[in-house]
Amino acid sequence: MRPMLPELQIDDVVRLRKPHPCGNYKWKVYRLGADIGLECTQCGRRLMLPRRKLAGRIKQIMPRAEDIQQSSKLTDLP
Ligand SMILES: [Zn+2]
Repeated sequence: MRPMLPELQIDDVVRLRKPHPCGNYKWKVYRLGADIGLECTQCGRRLMLPRRKLAGRIKQIMPRAEDIQQSSKLTDLP
């Protein structure tokens, strides 16, 4: 069975199964195409991964900024 790559958008932050040598797990999507461009959120290093390869490495997609804002509006009562 082939892993499916979830729907991604530019600026989405994904968590990978293996950490970058800098110790960081989180990567920001900066380019979409046949290959996906990822930027390490800690050291800024960039890499390109084919969709299929990335699909096998993603552990989790972090909630988008808008989603966080929306949920904090609900809980941010005085
Ligand atoms: Zn890094």
